[in-house]
Amino acid sequence: MAENMDLNDFHWLLAIVQSIDVGVVVLDREYRVEVWNSFMENHSGRTARDAAERSFFELFPEVEERWFRNKVENVVTLGTPAFTIWEQRPYLVRFKNYQPITGLEDFMYQNTTIMPLQATNSKIEHLCLIIYDVTGVAVNKRQLQAMSDQFKHLSRTDRLTGLNNRGHWEEELKREHARHRRYGSKASLVIFDIDHFKKVNDTYGHQAGDAVIQNVAKVLREQLRDTDIAGRYGGEEFVVLLPDVDAAGGRVFAERLRMIVERLQVSYEGQVIPFTISLGVADLSEPSHDHQQVIQWADQALYNSKRNGRNQVTVFGA
Ligand code: GH3
Ligand code: MG
Ligand code: MG
Repeated sequence: MAENMDLNDFHWLLAIVQSIDVGVVVLDREYRVEVWNSFMENHSGRTARDAAERSFFELFPEVEERWFRNKVENVVTLGTPAFTIWEQRPYLVRFKNYQPITGLEDFMYQNTTIMPLQATNSKIEHLCLIIYDVTGVAVNKRQLQAMSDQFKHLSRTDRLTGLNNRGHWEEELKREHARHRRYGSKASLVIFDIDHFKKVNDTYGHQAGDAVIQNVAKVLREQLRDTDIAGRYGGEEFVVLLPDVDAAGGRVFAERLRMIVERLQVSYEGQVIPFTISLGVADLSEPSHDHQQVIQWADQALYNSKRNGRNQVTVFGA
């Protein structure tokens, strides 16, 4: 190619390499810089003259030398290009990011290509490194991801209490139920409902009622282990799935919660609101058709607690 190219062509090529909005670096086999275009000058703060013949690793100490050499050796041996992408390695060389719109990240995300350059004798004595600034794409994608995580969280969470909402909690129960069938591990389910809650609303007002619900959620959360999954099942009804806890353990958990709520002092606008809860416990180890049936068992136990005078725990089938 070089033979039948006149000086004009060469001049144009250089002008293109200079003005193009990607980084172009040519290295010899000793990793010394031979070409350094204006993108590189602008972002590194080093002129081409300053960079010329200096070692790439000296110019960019952040580059992991062994990894990069290995990558380049492959390019030379195979005679094919290699790539790096920002999802796996945010950047190859650390440049500051000055773009005002994408000012969230202080470095430039990069995709890069390492290309073998064949000499006329067909030997590969040089490599061309091309650096693409993909900060805009990367930041957009990361913001979208963060937003979608946030939406996912919101769609699973009950607004008043911050607990799992009913839909998401039921999905978790379904999953645990299936897992339980396969591995036969222990698990129990607790459901509870605030006693005479209509009276709380009627006496103290709906907002006081909301405060009571929030306080119940708070004490519930304080009693949970990391693996327990609690949810707001209805207005003033709560559920807790206790993995690796049998029905006896479920009863202990429920009884402790009952006592804590009984002693709880919720005050709203200077008034202390006394209240209690009734609870039902079901055992996931008992053979069941589906997860709905386990909820029904717990609900039936809760109903018995209500019927027998409230402020108490009943274990289904006990
Ligand atoms: P029981 O002891 O039998 O459970 O009596 P109860 O009065 O608690 O009866 P029930 O469970 O049927 O009543 C629940 C009441 O809770 C009815 C509803 O107005 C109220 N409620 C439901 N959701 C909310 C809420 O988000 N905030 C408030 N303040 N009240 C709610
Ligand atoms: Mg109630
Ligand atoms: Mg209720």
